[in-house]
Amino acid sequence: MSGYRHLHSGKVRDLYEAPDGLLLMVASDRISAFDFILPNPIPDKGRILTQLSLWWFERLADVVPNHVVSTDVPEEFAGRAVLCRSLRMYPVECVARGYLAGSGLADYRATGSVCGVSLPPGLVDGSQLPEPVFTPATKAALGEHDENVSYDAVAQTVGELTAERLRALTLEVYGRARDIALDAGLVVADTKFEFGRTPDGQIVLADEVLTPDSSRFWPADEWEPGHPQPSYDKQYVRDWLTSPESGWDRTSGEPPPPLPDEVVDRTRAKYVEAYERLTGTRWS
Ligand code: ATP
Ligand code: MG
Repeated sequence: MSGYRHLHSGKVRDLYEAPDGLLLMVASDRISAFDFILPNPIPDKGRILTQLSLWWFERLADVVPNHVVSTDVPEEFAGRAVLCRSLRMYPVECVARGYLAGSGLADYRATGSVCGVSLPPGLVDGSQLPEPVFTPATKAALGEHDENVSYDAVAQTVGELTAERLRALTLEVYGRARDIALDAGLVVADTKFEFGRTPDGQIVLADEVLTPDSSRFWPADEWEPGHPQPSYDKQYVRDWLTSPESGWDRTSGEPPPPLPDEVVDRTRAKYVEAYERLTGTRWS
Protein backbone atom coordinates (compact mmCIF):
# COMPACT_ATOMS: atom_id res chain seq x y z
CA MET A 1 0.00 0.00 0.00
CA SER A 2 2.67 2.48 -0.91
CA GLY A 3 1.48 6.00 -1.57
CA TYR A 4 -1.02 5.87 1.29
CA ARG A 5 -0.37 7.51 4.63
CA HIS A 6 -2.54 6.84 7.67
CA LEU A 7 -4.17 10.07 8.89
CA HIS A 8 -6.85 9.25 11.41
CA SER A 9 -8.89 6.41 12.82
CA GLY A 10 -12.35 7.18 14.12
CA LYS A 11 -14.55 4.70 15.89
CA VAL A 12 -15.56 3.08 12.63
CA ARG A 13 -13.54 4.47 9.73
CA ASP A 14 -9.84 4.81 8.92
CA LEU A 15 -8.62 7.68 6.76
CA TYR A 16 -5.51 7.66 4.58
CA GLU A 17 -3.93 10.33 2.47
CA ALA A 18 -3.92 8.99 -1.08
CA PRO A 19 -2.07 9.98 -4.26
CA ASP A 20 -3.25 13.06 -6.17
CA GLY A 21 -4.39 14.82 -3.01
CA LEU A 22 -7.28 12.39 -2.54
CA LEU A 23 -8.48 10.78 0.65
CA LEU A 24 -9.00 7.04 1.13
CA MET A 25 -11.90 6.39 3.50
CA VAL A 26 -12.00 2.79 4.73
CA ALA A 27 -15.02 1.47 6.62
CA SER A 28 -14.01 -1.21 9.12
CA ASP A 29 -16.25 -3.88 10.66
CA ARG A 30 -15.96 -2.15 14.03
CA ILE A 31 -19.20 -1.29 15.79
CA SER A 32 -19.70 1.30 18.48
CA ALA A 33 -22.43 1.60 21.09
CA PHE A 34 -22.83 4.04 23.95
CA ASP A 35 -19.70 5.77 22.57
CA PHE A 36 -17.51 2.68 23.04
CA ILE A 37 -15.93 0.63 20.29
CA LEU A 38 -17.08 -2.93 21.04
CA PRO A 39 -14.57 -5.77 21.29
CA ASN A 40 -15.94 -7.82 18.39
CA PRO A 41 -16.37 -6.75 14.78
CA ILE A 42 -19.58 -7.35 12.81
CA PRO A 43 -18.57 -9.35 9.72
CA ASP A 44 -19.26 -7.51 6.42
CA LYS A 45 -20.39 -4.30 8.14
CA GLY A 46 -17.71 -2.15 6.48
CA ARG A 47 -18.59 -3.41 3.02
CA ILE A 48 -22.33 -3.03 3.64
CA LEU A 49 -21.99 0.58 4.84
CA THR A 50 -19.73 1.49 1.94
CA GLN A 51 -21.93 -0.12 -0.72
CA LEU A 52 -25.10 1.38 0.75
CA SER A 53 -23.55 4.87 0.86
CA LEU A 54 -22.49 4.53 -2.79
CA TRP A 55 -26.01 3.44 -3.73
CA TRP A 56 -27.43 6.54 -2.04
CA PHE A 57 -24.83 8.98 -3.39
CA GLU A 58 -25.86 7.95 -6.90
CA ARG A 59 -29.52 8.57 -6.15
CA LEU A 60 -28.86 11.96 -4.56
CA ALA A 61 -26.37 13.26 -7.10
CA ASP A 62 -28.85 15.63 -8.73
CA VAL A 63 -29.69 17.16 -5.34
CA VAL A 64 -26.14 17.69 -4.08
CA PRO A 65 -22.59 16.92 -5.29
CA ASN A 66 -20.75 14.25 -3.27
CA HIS A 67 -17.16 13.51 -2.36
CA VAL A 68 -16.79 10.17 -4.16
CA VAL A 69 -14.09 10.06 -6.83
CA SER A 70 -13.52 6.34 -7.36
CA THR A 71 -13.94 2.87 -5.89
CA ASP A 72 -10.65 1.70 -7.39
CA VAL A 73 -8.90 1.10 -4.06
CA PRO A 74 -6.04 -1.12 -2.83
CA GLU A 75 -6.98 -4.81 -2.94
CA GLU A 76 -7.01 -5.26 0.84
CA PHE A 77 -9.80 -2.64 1.13
CA ALA A 78 -11.83 -3.79 -1.86
CA GLY A 79 -15.54 -3.10 -1.41
CA ARG A 80 -15.23 -1.22 1.83
CA ALA A 81 -13.36 1.90 0.84
CA VAL A 82 -13.75 4.89 -1.45
CA LEU A 83 -11.33 7.41 -2.81
CA CYS A 84 -12.85 10.80 -2.19
CA ARG A 85 -12.14 14.48 -2.44
CA SER A 86 -10.39 15.75 0.64
CA LEU A 87 -12.67 18.47 1.99
CA ARG A 88 -12.59 21.05 4.74
CA MET A 89 -15.34 19.54 6.86
CA TYR A 90 -17.90 21.78 8.54
CA PRO A 91 -17.84 21.05 12.27
CA VAL A 92 -21.57 20.34 12.28
CA GLU A 93 -23.51 17.10 12.32
CA CYS A 94 -26.35 18.01 9.98
CA VAL A 95 -29.30 16.04 11.32
CA ALA A 96 -32.74 15.90 9.74
CA ARG A 97 -35.65 14.50 11.72
CA GLY A 98 -39.00 13.51 10.28
CA TYR A 99 -40.07 11.52 13.33
CA LEU A 100 -39.45 11.84 17.04
CA ALA A 101 -36.95 9.45 18.69
CA GLY A 102 -33.62 9.36 20.47
CA SER A 103 -32.12 12.67 21.58
CA GLY A 104 -34.88 14.52 19.70
CA LEU A 105 -37.50 12.84 21.86
CA ALA A 106 -35.48 13.52 25.02
CA ASP A 107 -35.14 17.23 24.15
CA TYR A 108 -38.83 17.47 23.27
CA ARG A 109 -39.87 15.89 26.56
CA ALA A 110 -37.67 18.29 28.48
CA THR A 111 -38.39 21.52 26.57
CA GLY A 112 -41.18 21.03 24.00
CA SER A 113 -38.68 21.78 21.27
CA VAL A 114 -35.67 20.23 19.54
CA CYS A 115 -32.58 22.34 18.85
CA GLY A 116 -34.65 25.49 19.39
CA VAL A 117 -37.38 24.42 16.94
CA SER A 118 -40.63 24.35 18.88
CA LEU A 119 -42.95 21.44 18.16
CA PRO A 120 -46.68 20.97 18.77
CA PRO A 121 -47.76 19.50 22.12
CA GLY A 122 -48.86 15.87 22.47
CA LEU A 123 -46.15 14.19 20.40
CA VAL A 124 -44.97 10.78 21.60
CA ASP A 125 -42.12 8.34 20.93
CA GLY A 126 -42.16 7.68 17.18
CA SER A 127 -44.57 10.49 16.21
CA GLN A 128 -44.24 11.93 12.74
CA LEU A 129 -43.38 15.64 12.87
CA PRO A 130 -45.62 18.13 11.05
CA GLU A 131 -42.65 18.67 8.73
CA PRO A 132 -39.02 17.54 8.79
CA VAL A 133 -36.74 19.72 10.92
CA PHE A 134 -33.03 20.51 10.86
CA THR A 135 -31.61 19.62 14.27
CA PRO A 136 -27.85 20.14 14.13
CA ALA A 137 -25.34 18.79 16.63
CA THR A 138 -21.71 19.51 17.34
CA LYS A 139 -19.21 16.78 16.59
CA ALA A 140 -17.88 15.44 19.87
CA ALA A 141 -14.31 14.26 20.48
CA LEU A 142 -13.73 10.51 20.88
CA GLY A 143 -15.58 9.21 23.92
CA GLU A 144 -17.94 12.15 24.22
CA HIS A 145 -21.54 12.58 23.18
CA ASP A 146 -22.52 14.79 20.26
CA GLU A 147 -24.50 17.70 21.58
CA ASN A 148 -27.65 19.13 20.00
CA VAL A 149 -27.28 22.83 19.21
CA SER A 150 -29.54 25.55 17.90
CA TYR A 151 -29.54 26.80 14.32
CA ASP A 152 -28.20 30.13 15.62
CA ALA A 153 -25.21 28.39 17.16
CA VAL A 154 -24.44 26.84 13.75
CA ALA A 155 -24.79 30.23 12.08
CA GLN A 156 -22.28 31.65 14.53
CA THR A 157 -19.80 28.88 13.77
CA VAL A 158 -20.02 28.70 9.97
CA GLY A 159 -21.70 32.01 9.07
CA GLU A 160 -25.31 32.83 8.27
CA LEU A 161 -25.14 32.04 4.56
CA THR A 162 -23.48 28.66 4.98
CA ALA A 163 -25.81 27.71 7.83
CA GLU A 164 -28.77 28.49 5.58
CA ARG A 165 -27.31 26.33 2.78
CA LEU A 166 -26.56 23.46 5.17
CA ARG A 167 -30.08 23.52 6.53
CA ALA A 168 -31.65 23.67 3.08
CA LEU A 169 -29.44 20.89 1.69
CA THR A 170 -30.00 18.68 4.73
CA LEU A 171 -33.77 18.94 4.40
CA GLU A 172 -33.70 18.52 0.63
CA VAL A 173 -31.53 15.39 0.77
CA TYR A 174 -33.63 14.01 3.62
CA GLY A 175 -36.82 14.57 1.64
CA ARG A 176 -35.48 12.71 -1.36
CA ALA A 177 -34.17 9.84 0.76
CA ARG A 178 -37.38 9.56 2.75
CA ASP A 179 -39.40 9.11 -0.44
CA ILE A 180 -37.03 6.51 -1.88
CA ALA A 181 -36.92 4.56 1.39
CA LEU A 182 -40.69 4.65 1.81
CA ASP A 183 -41.08 3.05 -1.62
CA ALA A 184 -38.92 0.25 -0.20
CA GLY A 185 -41.10 0.00 2.91
CA LEU A 186 -38.76 1.80 5.30
CA VAL A 187 -39.24 4.96 7.33
CA VAL A 188 -36.17 7.19 7.68
CA ALA A 189 -36.97 8.57 11.12
CA ASP A 190 -33.84 10.68 11.26
CA THR A 191 -30.43 10.84 9.67
CA LYS A 192 -27.09 12.62 9.99
CA PHE A 193 -25.12 14.14 7.13
CA GLU A 194 -21.68 15.70 7.07
CA PHE A 195 -20.79 18.33 4.51
CA GLY A 196 -17.44 19.75 3.51
CA ARG A 197 -16.16 22.55 1.35
CA THR A 198 -13.92 22.49 -1.72
CA PRO A 199 -11.17 25.09 -2.10
CA ASP A 200 -13.45 27.02 -4.48
CA GLY A 201 -16.26 27.14 -1.93
CA GLN A 202 -18.61 24.44 -3.22
CA ILE A 203 -20.56 22.57 -0.52
CA VAL A 204 -20.21 18.80 -0.97
CA LEU A 205 -21.93 15.86 0.76
CA ALA A 206 -19.25 13.70 2.41
CA ASP A 207 -18.72 10.91 4.92
CA GLU A 208 -21.20 8.02 4.78
CA VAL A 209 -24.87 8.60 4.02
CA LEU A 210 -28.15 6.99 5.01
CA THR A 211 -26.70 3.87 6.59
CA PRO A 212 -27.96 2.14 9.74
CA ASP A 213 -25.01 3.78 11.56
CA SER A 214 -26.08 7.30 10.64
CA SER A 215 -29.85 6.87 10.46
CA ARG A 216 -32.87 5.39 12.18
CA PHE A 217 -34.68 3.11 9.75
CA TRP A 218 -38.02 1.62 10.77
CA PRO A 219 -40.17 -0.91 8.92
CA ALA A 220 -43.04 1.25 7.66
CA ASP A 221 -45.69 -1.44 8.14
CA GLU A 222 -44.86 -1.76 11.84
CA TRP A 223 -44.73 1.96 12.60
CA GLU A 224 -46.90 2.73 15.61
CA PRO A 225 -46.19 5.85 17.66
CA GLY A 226 -46.30 5.60 21.45
CA HIS A 227 -43.36 3.29 22.09
CA PRO A 228 -39.85 2.57 20.73
CA GLN A 229 -40.01 1.35 17.12
CA PRO A 230 -38.30 -1.81 15.87
CA SER A 231 -35.27 -0.47 14.11
CA TYR A 232 -32.50 -1.50 11.71
CA ASP A 233 -29.68 -0.19 13.79
CA LYS A 234 -27.74 -1.45 16.77
CA GLN A 235 -30.82 -2.30 18.76
CA TYR A 236 -29.75 -5.88 19.56
CA VAL A 237 -26.36 -4.69 20.66
CA ARG A 238 -27.73 -1.97 22.91
CA ASP A 239 -30.44 -4.25 24.31
CA TRP A 240 -27.93 -6.97 25.14
CA LEU A 241 -25.40 -4.57 26.64
CA THR A 242 -28.01 -3.08 28.95
CA SER A 243 -29.52 -6.47 29.89
CA PRO A 244 -28.44 -8.20 33.14
CA GLU A 245 -27.01 -10.99 30.97
CA SER A 246 -24.09 -8.84 29.81
CA GLY A 247 -23.04 -8.07 33.36
CA TRP A 248 -21.97 -4.62 32.14
CA ASP A 249 -22.66 -1.41 33.99
CA ARG A 250 -22.84 1.43 31.49
CA THR A 251 -22.00 3.97 34.15
CA SER A 252 -18.92 2.14 35.44
CA GLY A 253 -16.57 3.59 32.86
CA GLU A 254 -15.41 0.02 32.12
CA PRO A 255 -15.30 -1.02 28.44
CA PRO A 256 -18.17 -3.28 27.32
CA PRO A 257 -17.70 -7.08 27.33
CA PRO A 258 -17.46 -9.16 24.11
CA LEU A 259 -20.78 -9.81 22.40
CA PRO A 260 -22.11 -13.38 22.21
CA ASP A 261 -22.06 -14.90 18.70
CA GLU A 262 -25.83 -14.75 18.52
CA VAL A 263 -25.86 -10.98 19.05
CA VAL A 264 -23.16 -10.55 16.40
CA ASP A 265 -25.10 -12.72 13.93
CA ARG A 266 -28.40 -10.96 14.50
CA THR A 267 -26.77 -7.56 14.19
CA ARG A 268 -25.09 -8.56 10.93
CA ALA A 269 -28.46 -9.84 9.68
CA LYS A 270 -30.03 -6.44 10.41
CA TYR A 271 -27.38 -4.59 8.41
CA VAL A 272 -27.84 -7.05 5.54
CA GLU A 273 -31.61 -6.68 5.70
CA ALA A 274 -31.42 -2.87 5.61
CA TYR A 275 -29.16 -3.09 2.56
CA GLU A 276 -31.38 -5.61 0.79
CA ARG A 277 -34.65 -3.83 1.50
CA LEU A 278 -33.37 -0.44 0.42
CA THR A 279 -31.50 -1.46 -2.71
CA GLY A 280 -33.82 -4.31 -3.69
CA THR A 281 -30.79 -6.49 -4.36
CA ARG A 282 -29.34 -9.50 -2.53
CA TRP A 283 -26.28 -8.94 -0.38
CA SER A 284 -23.29 -10.96 -1.57
P1 ATP B 1 -16.77 8.95 15.34
O1 ATP B 1 -16.19 7.69 15.81
O2 ATP B 1 -17.36 9.81 16.40
O3 ATP B 1 -17.68 8.79 14.14
P2 ATP B 1 -15.18 10.27 13.54
O4 ATP B 1 -16.42 10.84 12.94
O5 ATP B 1 -13.97 11.12 13.68
O6 ATP B 1 -15.49 9.76 14.92
P3 ATP B 1 -15.26 8.16 11.58
O7 ATP B 1 -16.68 8.50 11.29
O8 ATP B 1 -14.89 6.76 11.88
O9 ATP B 1 -14.71 8.97 12.80
O10 ATP B 1 -14.29 8.69 10.44
C1 ATP B 1 -14.68 9.48 9.37
C2 ATP B 1 -14.03 10.85 9.45
O11 ATP B 1 -13.77 11.34 8.15
C3 ATP B 1 -14.92 11.90 10.11
O12 ATP B 1 -14.13 12.73 10.93
C4 ATP B 1 -15.46 12.70 8.92
O13 ATP B 1 -15.79 14.02 9.26
C5 ATP B 1 -14.29 12.65 7.97
N1 ATP B 1 -14.59 12.80 6.55
C6 ATP B 1 -15.56 12.18 5.85
N2 ATP B 1 -15.52 12.51 4.53
C7 ATP B 1 -14.50 13.39 4.39
C8 ATP B 1 -13.95 14.10 3.27
N3 ATP B 1 -14.44 13.98 2.03
N4 ATP B 1 -12.89 14.93 3.50
C9 ATP B 1 -12.37 15.04 4.76
N5 ATP B 1 -12.83 14.40 5.84
C10 ATP B 1 -13.88 13.56 5.67
MG1 MG C 1 -18.22 9.74 12.08
